[in-house]
Amino acid sequence: MTAHSNIYPTKALQELDAAHHWHPFSDMKSLNAEGSRIITSANGVWLQDSDGKQILDGMAGLWCVQVGHGRSEITEAVTKQMNELAYYNTFFKTTHPPAIALSEKLAKLAPDHINTVFYCSSGSEANDTVFRMVRTYWDKMGKADKKVIIGRWNGYHGSTLAGTSLGGMKAMHAQGDLPVSGVHHIDQPYWFGEGQDMNPDEFGIHIARKLEQAIDEIGEDKVAAFIAEPIQGAGGVIIPPDTYWPEIKRILDERDILFVSDEVICGFGRLGEWFGSTFYGMKPDLMPIAKGLTSGYLPMGGVMVSDRVAEGLMNAGDDFNHGYTYSGHPVCAAAALANLEIIEREGLVDRVKNDIGPYLKERWLKLVEHELVGEARMTGLVGALELVPDKNNLTKKFSDVGVPGNLCRDISFEHGMVMRAVRDSMIISPPLVLSHEEADHLVATAEKTLNDTYRILKRDGWLS
Ligand SMILES: *Cc1c(COP(=O)(O)O)cnc(C)c1O
Repeated sequence: MTAHSNIYPTKALQELDAAHHWHPFSDMKSLNAEGSRIITSANGVWLQDSDGKQILDGMAGLWCVQVGHGRSEITEAVTKQMNELAYYNTFFKTTHPPAIALSEKLAKLAPDHINTVFYCSSGSEANDTVFRMVRTYWDKMGKADKKVIIGRWNGYHGSTLAGTSLGGMKAMHAQGDLPVSGVHHIDQPYWFGEGQDMNPDEFGIHIARKLEQAIDEIGEDKVAAFIAEPIQGAGGVIIPPDTYWPEIKRILDERDILFVSDEVICGFGRLGEWFGSTFYGMKPDLMPIAKGLTSGYLPMGGVMVSDRVAEGLMNAGDDFNHGYTYSGHPVCAAAALANLEIIEREGLVDRVKNDIGPYLKERWLKLVEHELVGEARMTGLVGALELVPDKNNLTKKFSDVGVPGNLCRDISFEHGMVMRAVRDSMIISPPLVLSHEEADHLVATAEKTLNDTYRILKRDGWLS
């Protein structure tokens, strides 16, 4: 068959897929028995599957399709660039116009103290770059003992060796003997899941101070950096209490370690600012980026580097022995530029802050009234619903964590909408071009999905 053939019946495609295609983060035995869903085309916020069913893409692909699907401006920019220069590298004293133009653009969009970008092809590679960059930086500063990187439990920074290690996903650590040495994890600011015995503000301070304790225990002279997502995405859209980031800022201001804000999800308008760290008033030394950089049209990532770190490394008079064949890939850079142009032209960042963000949030938060929902939260255009077995005891979890969430996710698909399940939280992160009408549809579908999920859970004895 060819990539473009949609002439086969779904079943035949599923069988071929099951025979040869190993999916990421999947139990292949059960997936192959069930058969994969096959997406054949997409436009705006709508996906179409191989049966012709229309599905609202509540996750913007995998948190990345900021500008929506099927934008011909990006296709045209990519085609033009492919015809002109489809590939050249940026090693050995060379560069090319797309990499130059994109770097200039990103430097303009980033906070004033960040003016340099190192390219790669994904968020995972960006964090592998971070790992080597922060240690090398301290080495060049004459502080080679500063090696430890502090991450957070349930943080997500990708699935390469460094990404998995910096992240705090225990199920990932268990495969491949990770984390690598020199990574330390502290608790996450997950009030609903882990902090209900305090009020959210107290809990935010309490958890932020875990960073202070960790630095002091390990020794400031041994700690290189703290890495965190402004809002944890894959961990379940963990929106920290209001007190958390200001207290982290206080701690970082008092100690000489680098702060890495992983902007792979929160960057490019997701929180209503160009970068999530700006939303929280933080001043990062490094910002890994990917996903929304190209809206997923082509794979590209990077690390945005502050003047302090860039100068420290660049003035060392030595190579930074790191780079990828596809660093600054011209076609990916052209896609990124076209994507950023759309975001700017359509004012999508401001739209999230002042229009569709507040519009969807107001409606989404009302879902907390549902019998099955213990908490509804949203910031910018990313949100979650915590499903609970007992509305009168919000600390109680389902007896088999994850099963109700997956049931709810499958029902949502049946109703024509992608919501993702993390444990028993339902997650949305729709394209930034979502219209008011589509937002209404999203919330109505979520409600219908909750009703059906509730009915089945009740019938099967899951609820208290
Ligand atoms: C997705 C993600 C990554 C990894 O990006 P990939 O492109 O999948 O390698 C890293 N950090 C965060 C916060 C992410 O959400």
